[in-house]
Amino acid sequence: MKGCLACDLAEGRVPLPGGVIHETANWFVEHTVGALGVGTLILKPKRHVTRVSELTDDEAVELGPLLLRCAAVVDELVEPEQVYTCLWSHAGGTPVHIHYVVQPATRELMDRHVAYGPNLQVAMFDADVTPLKADVEAFADQARAAFRS
Ligand SMILES: [Zn+2]
Repeated sequence: MKGCLACDLAEGRVPLPGGVIHETANWFVEHTVGALGVGTLILKPKRHVTRVSELTDDEAVELGPLLLRCAAVVDELVEPEQVYTCLWSHAGGTPVHIHYVVQPATRELMDRHVAYGPNLQVAMFDADVTPLKADVEAFADQARAAFRS
């Protein structure tokens, strides 16, 4: 769907640093384009879906194992204290293309922002630091290799 960031990234209308990292029949895994730091993966349905309750059975069956796999890749590559897996998908108070965030919460990040959990995400969005493209691309390459192994 044109004008949806998730669809625009998937269909090449908006550049996606690092490219598609992994895909299944119904899902894409990418690196986040937002301010949640290097190593944060996004897991989104290929189809434009704005509610979890609207996922098809096929999409739902792939979700659990893929979410687990994404979290394992982030654990392996970043070795954070925790990996957050969450879904808000509410931009400007409007439901948008659902996307699970798989975010490494490292001690360094928590100390820098003096926060953890949802407050860490708020602090990172407030700081609004976009990771360097080269760092994102390097992580995406490592993650692609990790998904293949
Ligand atoms: Zn979309």
